[in-house]
Amino acid sequence: MASDKLQIALYWGAACGGCDVAVLDTDAFILDVAAAADIRLWPIAVDGKYADVEAMEDGELDLTLFNGAVRNSENEHIAKLLRAKSKLLVAFGSCAHLGGIPGLANLTSREEILTAAYLANPSLERGNKTVPLAESGANGRTLTIPSFYRRVYKLDDIVPVDYYVPGCPPAFDQVKAVVQAVVGGDLPAVGSVVGASDKALCDDCTRVKSEKRIKHFYRPWQIMMDPEACLLEQGILCAGPATRSGCGARCTSSGIPCRGCYGPLPDVVDQGAKLLSAIVSVIDSQDPEEIERIVDGLPDFAGFAYRFSMPASLLQMSVRQ
Ligand code: SF4
Ligand code: SF4
Ligand code: SF4
Repeated sequence: MASDKLQIALYWGAACGGCDVAVLDTDAFILDVAAAADIRLWPIAVDGKYADVEAMEDGELDLTLFNGAVRNSENEHIAKLLRAKSKLLVAFGSCAHLGGIPGLANLTSREEILTAAYLANPSLERGNKTVPLAESGANGRTLTIPSFYRRVYKLDDIVPVDYYVPGCPPAFDQVKAVVQAVVGGDLPAVGSVVGASDKALCDDCTRVKSEKRIKHFYRPWQIMMDPEACLLEQGILCAGPATRSGCGARCTSSGIPCRGCYGPLPDVVDQGAKLLSAIVSVIDSQDPEEIERIVDGLPDFAGFAYRFSMPASLLQMSVRQ
């Protein structure tokens, strides 16, 4: 296909749709992109068929923004297809970057998920034992649906990725930055995390920091929050010490603790372990029993610390497959 315009695809794997909405939220900018580029595939916004992608030459797409994790065989097939057809493949958003929220499913097993959704679900007809099968027969015909994998994968577990855009979802200026970099040919080193810095979020957060001596952890609604002091110093779990900055501390400046969606700092392998180490260092006790009581006050720590990065974590090696 001969065209001077940029050839772009946007795709969602195991995703919530928020990353696509973030692109739509760029308002006039996305209209400029639509005028300057051919959007060849974008399931949420324009019609496009997988067969059209299969018919493309390898490398025919200049850029693919892939959001969402890889949870089933369809996600994997399209990830591989778009990798082959794209000069640049970008893992867009936390789910593609690190596994994201869907990756928390790796704390359980495929069987437990299917049981909860299809067998033990009180909204189902009593006695119903139907679970989806990748292949089933009806009226002499065979019906196939994507197979549900044992675990969730981040995009670069499946295919090589050129760039990563973090965030759940990425912010407006990141969307702009990645498209402008491609248009201007001003690309960072392959493998870079685009639109983020190498510092911790705490460095950008304007909340007043002093000595952190924690005797008790609270959920945000359990205390009257000081509007200016560091949230962690107030005993509110905040992932800022273990999270890469770049978002402008948009949550903490609104009184909401950081949940870590920009992922770990460079050179940190396991974001949750880094956060645990930061948390333990601010507990104000040497007494093992008291420390245990304080740590017990951390609600669902694994769910918090690995909210966006379970498939990328060291724990991944020990979770049930
Ligand atoms: S990164 Fe966040 S907004 Fe984007 S698909 Fe995943 S859960 Fe949704
Ligand atoms: S721990 Fe959270 S609230 Fe405190 S300085 Fe860091 S980012 Fe800000
Ligand atoms: S403050 Fe934390 S959770 Fe909020 S956008 Fe920034 S990195 Fe993500």
